Amino acid sequence: MKTCKTGADHIKSLKDGRTVYIDGQVVVDVTEHPAFRNAVRSAAALYDFQAQPENLELMTFSPDQSNRRVNRAWQMPRNYEEMVLRRKALQAWAMLSCGYLGRSPDHVAFALVGQRMGLEIFEKHSPQRARALADYFEEARRNDYFLTYVIINPQAERAKDWGDQAEGLVARIVDEDSSGITVRGAKLLGTSSIMANEVLVANLQPLKPGEEDLAFSCALPMNAKGLRVLSRKSYEAAALSRFDNPLSSMFDENDALMYFDDVKVPWPRVFVHRDTDMCRAQFHDTPGHSYQNYQAQIRLSVKIKFLCGLAHRISEAIGTTNIPSVREQLGFLAAQSGMVNAMLAGMEAEGSMRGEWYVPNKHYMYSAQVLTQDLYPRVINLLRELAGGSLIMLPSSIHDFADASVAKIVRTTQRAAGIAPEQKVKFMKAAWDAIGSEFGSRHTQYEMFYAGARFVTTGHSFRTYDWDGATGMVERFLASYDLADELAQLQPAGDKTARQA
Ligand SMILES: Cc1cc2nc3c(=O)[nH]c(=O)nc-3n(C[C@H](O)[C@H](O)[C@H](O)COP(=O)(O)OP(=O)(O)OC[C@H]3O[C@@H](n4cnc5c(N)ncnc54)[C@H](O)[C@@H]3O)c2cc1C
Repeated sequence: MKTCKTGADHIKSLKDGRTVYIDGQVVVDVTEHPAFRNAVRSAAALYDFQAQPENLELMTFSPDQSNRRVNRAWQMPRNYEEMVLRRKALQAWAMLSCGYLGRSPDHVAFALVGQRMGLEIFEKHSPQRARALADYFEEARRNDYFLTYVIINPQAERAKDWGDQAEGLVARIVDEDSSGITVRGAKLLGTSSIMANEVLVANLQPLKPGEEDLAFSCALPMNAKGLRVLSRKSYEAAALSRFDNPLSSMFDENDALMYFDDVKVPWPRVFVHRDTDMCRAQFHDTPGHSYQNYQAQIRLSVKIKFLCGLAHRISEAIGTTNIPSVREQLGFLAAQSGMVNAMLAGMEAEGSMRGEWYVPNKHYMYSAQVLTQDLYPRVINLLRELAGGSLIMLPSSIHDFADASVAKIVRTTQRAAGIAPEQKVKFMKAAWDAIGSEFGSRHTQYEMFYAGARFVTTGHSFRTYDWDGATGMVERFLASYDLADELAQLQPAGDKTARQA
């Protein structure tokens, strides 16, 4: 038996007959299709990395004391030290994609770890559903599954409640019998679903009584009968070459609409059944939401550092690093990176025990979420400001280097401070892919929205802040003086003024 999952294991597991559509066609094999194959290889590289003997201890652990090891994302930390150990593993994983695989396999593993820590919440809902979740957690962990999740409804008409949307739009239970439930309708936006093994389906957005048909959670293999995956445009397929689009050609994790065409879900895979409040509790009364978004901040810490690296290289390439105002901008950017790291360290250091498990500080996590969804587009804008036209004034493609006469002009006109023209073009194309290409733009949208729109994240921050502590401090301060005392102290001065008059 192998020690742990490898890239080859993962690629093999994706050849499972799943139904994926792109550009009006069914994809026969996602591991070979030009829209997805490089992203699949990038995902596989994560498993190869963890399987290397020198990385086994850093990246994996044994859940059952056997010699079978799985990624540390599945580890349920019992103390601060285990939490930090686990984070270091996942930062090492994120570095393989410079933080550009937003939904690497650790994301939903974190969500499930947090939900499993709150099993008693599922038990209150139903002992059978709690058993299903606990068993599924063991199965997913034992197999080191790559999971995606769809926990949001299609945007549709925001002025209407979810239950009032047009027939067939929002996924709902349309039938059930002794073997399970049948689901029809859509969920979004299954990032990485193309290269995941399984999908966790749930409902994070508030539901109201009467919307019980929509109130369910379950897990399905990506090849479940009736599960149709509608890919968005592939940036990987549009990438001209790795030299021209080094990020989009490799890390286009894809986002896809999931349509449940009367999909049957067996009871052992149903975790929430017709309970609108339990849909909320699944994430918010367990540490599920805290854990999944803690993972997002771990990954972001790597991505922001990469963007800082790009910014510094931009200024080096165009020779502006020593201009005081440019240094000021770089210093400001470095402070943003420092802040992301500090918030991460803070949510770990100020974590707390929940039963036998250690969980990150919830309000610090929400603070980080609110601040970073604002921070990301500002960081991107700063890089644009530092770069000017050099991001655009680039040869149309690698083919310009293949023609001697064009290449000669390119080499003459792409001169830069301290780097060869080819190196400058290579670097500027990478920078543009990160911040301005269609792939780069999608990343800005992702960082602004993956955890919910601003009104949602600020709502979490509002709910979880220590308002009693804050207002209590104001009360104590106000109680330290009052009107009568102050008037009494004014009296002698008043008398004096009156006598003088
Ligand atoms: C690149 C990308 C990848 C994603 N991947 C996944 C995934 O893997 N799995 C998944 O489940 N989801 C995923 N999502 C979905 C994501 O969680 C949602 O986009 C997010 O929750 C926001 O929901 P929405 O898109 O419906 O926007 P809305 O909630 O409709 O918000 C859009 C805008 O409408 C306004 N608005 C709407 N309602 C209100 C209100 N009540 N009060 C005030 N203003 C309001 C605000 O201006 C807001 O910014 C992804 C999204 C993106 C962009």
